[in-house]
Amino acid sequence: MTKPSRPGLGEVLGRLLGPAQPELTCDECFAQLDVYVELELSGRDADLVVPGMRAHLEGCPACGEDHASLRALAAEPPPLPLTIEHEEQL
Ligand SMILES: [Zn+2]
Repeated sequence: MTKPSRPGLGEVLGRLLGPAQPELTCDECFAQLDVYVELELSGRDADLVVPGMRAHLEGCPACGEDHASLRALAAEPPPLPLTIEHEEQL
């Protein structure tokens, strides 16, 4: 296996930060996070619908944490508030 000649640093950076991967800000990330998680959980290609999200989550610990907790939350139904008395009264 032959390796191609090493590309210059600028070329690598250009590929990493290229226009193909739009950069998400934390605000944009947060705004689309619930949609992204919903797509993920429904088995759709969330990265296709919200490009740049994956990269941001991996590079931003705060949003990554939000993503993780939102996923955990969405994966199971929220606990019902115990407003309804459901005790058996015999
Ligand atoms: Zn962020």
